[in-house]
Amino acid sequence: MSASEGSSHHDWLVVGAGVVGLCTALHLARRKLRVCVIEQMSQVANASIVSGAGIRFFDPDPIISAQIVQSHNFYSELGLADDFRPCTSYYGFGTAAAEGLLDRAHASGMRVLSRAQLKACRPHIEWGAVDYAVEDEHAGFRDPLITWHTLRAACERLGVVFRFGHQVLAFEDRASVRQLVTQAGRYMAHGVIFATGYWTPSLLERLGLPHVVRNRTITVHRLAGHNLAHLPFVVEHGSGFHARPTACGEILFGLPQPDWDVAPDNLPDRANAHLDKAVAHLQRYAPAPLSFSGVRTTRSADAFASVAPEAQATLPDHTHVFAFGEGAAFKYAPAKSLAYINLIQGSKIC
Ligand SMILES: Cc1cc2nc3c(=O)[nH]c(=O)nc-3n(C[C@H](O)[C@H](O)[C@H](O)COP(=O)(O)OP(=O)(O)OC[C@H]3O[C@@H](n4cnc5c(N)ncnc54)[C@H](O)[C@@H]3O)c2cc1C
Repeated sequence: MSASEGSSHHDWLVVGAGVVGLCTALHLARRKLRVCVIEQMSQVANASIVSGAGIRFFDPDPIISAQIVQSHNFYSELGLADDFRPCTSYYGFGTAAAEGLLDRAHASGMRVLSRAQLKACRPHIEWGAVDYAVEDEHAGFRDPLITWHTLRAACERLGVVFRFGHQVLAFEDRASVRQLVTQAGRYMAHGVIFATGYWTPSLLERLGLPHVVRNRTITVHRLAGHNLAHLPFVVEHGSGFHARPTACGEILFGLPQPDWDVAPDNLPDRANAHLDKAVAHLQRYAPAPLSFSGVRTTRSADAFASVAPEAQATLPDHTHVFAFGEGAAFKYAPAKSLAYINLIQGSKIC
């Protein structure tokens, strides 16, 4: 261990260099706090980097919708405005859609289109699966890798220190100093923030910290060389089916099929059964049979963790878990992490 690594003292240690960890580090650094990000991988290949980085502004929850707008502006202000690729989103539902959803759509200034109107707008797509859809003309996606590098560069410009290839193995809370132990050394700080995605439950257990989160992982698939031309960003309210293009030219699609509280390394391999269902859903939008020879499946796709406030309070002082209740999605990570930092800054930082 080098002395500079092992003995340096920071205001905050952020564990995990995903989009949540990077946004968190950046928000802290903007407050002139000394931040060190500790990441277990040398070549980072986390959820943030394989993400579709899709952004839909319509969400049934108005708070999430507002956070998505705020986050989109944050990404744009970092210099990522031109990187955003528009791709109209259709949030589809059957006739029995909750009235509240339609009201929300109208209040957001979005059109609700019938199946016939959808067909007129997008003649290459079959719309038999939906009766109506909220049209989100401002939706789109980013290149997750470019976003990740931009976030990292912004952090580094503000003096954030990165330690890649350093896995956090132990946590100690001594004399008002939080300490993290890695193979490469010991890191000390006033506070620690775990932004460790779907590793969070198993990591907290290993560190002997209260289990304040539950993990949810979802299986998604990617279709390369597809013949589904002009596919917009489609989401079904009833089934939760998602399909959309990505920055690398693949179609990313899937039906939610969550596994709870399974460590990422131990997820059940049920990809084939799941794939058949997801393929059948995607096929409904295609005028001709699709070729699925190029499908890749990502088993551990997303982290969805719930931190009960009373559970968070059982963590040691100045120790936080940024695993947000609704999942730490790319599209609202900047706003959610900022809101959290504003919350704890008042009481615990500075
Ligand atoms: C295929 C796919 C498609 C998606 N599509 C979308 C989308 O279109 N729109 C959207 O908004 N969201 C999408 N998401 C969700 C979104 O990308 C994730 O929720 C988000 O990226 C999670 O970020 P994170 O920082 O919490 O986790 P991660 O990116 O997983 O980062 C956690 C980091 O913590 C590190 N870590 C863990 N344990 C340790 C340890 N002990 N020591 C040091 N480091 C550690 C890990 O190595 C990892 O780098 C998608 C996700 C996937 C996988």
